[in-house]
Amino acid sequence: MGRLNTFPLSLKVQGRRIVIVGGGEEALNKARLAVKTTAQVVIVSPHLEADFSALPVEVLERRFQPSDLDNAAMVFVADHGPDASVAQDAARARNIPLNVVDVPGECDFFTPAIIDRAPLTIAISSEGRAPVLARLVRARIEAVLSPRLGNLASLAGGLRHRVESLIQDGAARRRFYQALVTSPEIERAEAAGHGHEAAESLLAAHVEAGSGAGVVWLIGAGPGSEDLLTLRAQRLLQDADVIVHDQLVPDVVVQMARRDAEQIAVGKAKGHHSFSQAQINTLLVRLASEGKRVARLKSGDPMVFGRAGEEIAALRKAGIAYQVVPGVSAALAAAADTATPVTLRKVSSGFIMATAHGAEDDELQHWALLAGAGMTLGLYMGKSIAGEVAARLVAHGASETLPVGIVVNAGRASRTLYSGTLGALAANQLDFADGPAVILVGEAVAEGDWAEAAQMAASSFKVA
Ligand code: SAH
Repeated sequence: MGRLNTFPLSLKVQGRRIVIVGGGEEALNKARLAVKTTAQVVIVSPHLEADFSALPVEVLERRFQPSDLDNAAMVFVADHGPDASVAQDAARARNIPLNVVDVPGECDFFTPAIIDRAPLTIAISSEGRAPVLARLVRARIEAVLSPRLGNLASLAGGLRHRVESLIQDGAARRRFYQALVTSPEIERAEAAGHGHEAAESLLAAHVEAGSGAGVVWLIGAGPGSEDLLTLRAQRLLQDADVIVHDQLVPDVVVQMARRDAEQIAVGKAKGHHSFSQAQINTLLVRLASEGKRVARLKSGDPMVFGRAGEEIAALRKAGIAYQVVPGVSAALAAAADTATPVTLRKVSSGFIMATAHGAEDDELQHWALLAGAGMTLGLYMGKSIAGEVAARLVAHGASETLPVGIVVNAGRASRTLYSGTLGALAANQLDFADGPAVILVGEAVAEGDWAEAAQMAASSFKVA
């Protein structure tokens, strides 16, 4: 690892001045940074080109003079006129840290990219060498931190004495603080102005529960690409002690969780059930009862063919707190992959998500309804019986010419598309790519972009 040429630190500026010499865009950028602090920000320039009126700064519209640096904690020189060197010399003579914008060789310090969750600050520095990279890293960190984290940190700070007197055990205290700054309910309450009350009742709950109450988050993992996870899902995955995930959730998504979180695969892959649903329910209740924060990670959206209903019922019965985090369901990922508008004025007035399961026997009664719906269908769990699905719909009155699109591995780089008609699907034994698949059926399907799709038969619908 290389060594640093600069040392990151937090400089006190309260009660002092930050002086910016210059009146253009560069000066404005520095002013935006400087006004994040409580320092008095002073702009000195005979020609103001940028508009500083929206910022709480003092503007001196004149030439720079060395006494402008009285009580200054730092100086930015963002001026290309004769004042630049005067200001630099003055700063050096007074030993005031100096930053000459875009001239690294003249700088005593660099400004990091800042993530502001006051009182919490995260500064990312590249020693002035790769500011674009620093901003990129900042954007990523911004995304995983609640915008209200600073307020939550202040909330936690305000409760310190009470927490110390009420919770003796260090680990339990840590769990309380962690719950306080990561709980979506507290965040919501804080945003609505009831943060203090919510924090107090959380504290009461933790005191009562002794070791700290567990919770189960039922989290939608989306179709299987890590960047189709919601930010909330990602945050909770970072907070969880245990991840209980389905087989369908790819490793790249599971790896978004905290490194040292325990991982339990309750593989419900087609063909082998390593855990029964009853065993999964029992597992979730047990883990949460031990005080653990459990991320129950399900593919797509947890409320769509995810058996979330049974898990929630078990949690309710055991009196365990839970929360559901939505995810991108496979059929919607398939629609996005193929730019298929599942609802479309005058073509499709609705979208039905249905299981294809049972097309090969008489388990389900919904075929007549689906065949006559006149809406777009998103059929799950139907790949291995796709021909029977099409035949069922036709047998119940759907037109053989109705467009069909199948997306295997929707939402993933490895997606594979097939397009055709109900008739073609019913008549042909297709050899699909490996992976889960969604079958889209309906007139609106023909409006999508299926140009890269393999055709089910010569009679396939023509691409719009
Ligand atoms: N809760 C999930 C569905 C789970 S049921 C969701 O909302 O997406 C499992 C079925 O989902 C599979 O049989 C398949 O039909 C579908 N599925 C899940 N992931 C998929 C993907 N990436 N591409 C296509 N279909 C998928």
